[in-house]
Formats: sequence, C-alpha cells, structure tokens
Amino acid sequence: MPKAAVFLDRDGVINRDRSDYVKSWEEFEFLPGVLEAFRVLALGLHQVVVISNQSCIGRGLVGRAMVDEIHACMTEAVRRSGGRIDAVYYCPHRPDEDCPCRKPRPGLILKAARELDIDLAASWLVGDDLRDLETAKAAGVRPVLVRTGHGRDLPETRLARVSYPFDVFEDLFEAVTRLGEGRVSSRS
Ligand SMILES: [Mg+2]
Ligand SMILES: [Zn+2]
Repeated sequence: MPKAAVFLDRDGVINRDRSDYVKSWEEFEFLPGVLEAFRVLALGLHQVVVISNQSCIGRGLVGRAMVDEIHACMTEAVRRSGGRIDAVYYCPHRPDEDCPCRKPRPGLILKAARELDIDLAASWLVGDDLRDLETAKAAGVRPVLVRTGHGRDLPETRLARVSYPFDVFEDLFEAVTRLGEGRVSSRS
C-alpha cells in the first residue's frame, strides 16, 4: 500500500541557507531544533524525503560527488541523533535548462512517488519559499511554509495573495509536532 511522505526542502528548512551555496560539509549548519524535528518524524510512519534544487552543480560551482557527500553526511548526522532520512532527491540543473525537476515544477516529487510508492494526497512538503508552496500545490501534496530561511522575510501581504490553502509554522520542529498532532489550521 502506498505510504505518506513528509517532503522537506533542504536549504532554509534543514540547514542555514547561504547566498554562495553550501559547497562542503564544513559549510553545512543544521538550523536550531532540526535534529529534534527529525527524531519526532522518525516516530511516525511517514517516509522522510528531502527535495532540493542544487543549481550550484549546473553552474559549475560544486561537483555532484560533493553534493552527494554532503547528503551522506547529513543523513548520517540525522541517523546518529535518532532521526531518519529515507531518501534525498535533488535537481542539478540551472534555471535556464528548463528541466522538469527544478522546483516549482513537481518532477522530483513525482519521481520519488513512483520510486518509493508514496501516497501524495496524504503527504506534505515543508519549505521556506513560495516556490516550495507552488511545488507542493503542483504535485498534489499539502503545502507547509516555515518562517526560517527565506520564510523569515516573506511579507504577510505576499502570503495573503497565495490562492490555495497552506499551513505556516515558525520552524521545522513546530511543523512536525503540530502536524503530527493533527493540530493544524490551514489558511487560504
Ligand atoms: Mg529553501
Ligand atoms: Zn532539474
């Protein structure tokens, strides 16, 4: 039977975003409460899947092997602290390559759904950017915004123009605990 998933954007949700990209594991910094959030997620039945745009690869700034190494280290750090990441999917392309996998297009989520047998209608995507909300909407999963990363600077007036329901939380920890308890109040 297909299983629900919690899709997570990476930069600005799991780790501190950098304007010059995360180019090595040394530059990867977990945001406060994130490792605890992964522990909470691991208690549930959801698959935990990271979905990330990494155009730094297509721009020639970071090699694919390094991005894979960063994700291996991230997954291991989460595992050691009692959490779990089941899969990481990323888009390596530049915006001008017009690929189907760069968010806000839903390609990565649809691919994950096929490969991991995910029930999209029962799943959510947590992101820090309007682009993540668009991706969730396009894939048919529940859009969740956190006020970390770019989400800190999004004005209420901009959020008020989003034409579909989504949830807003302070950070990943609040999102996973509140959604896990079913204590949610979607806004539209
Ligand atoms: Mg982000
Ligand atoms: Zn792509």
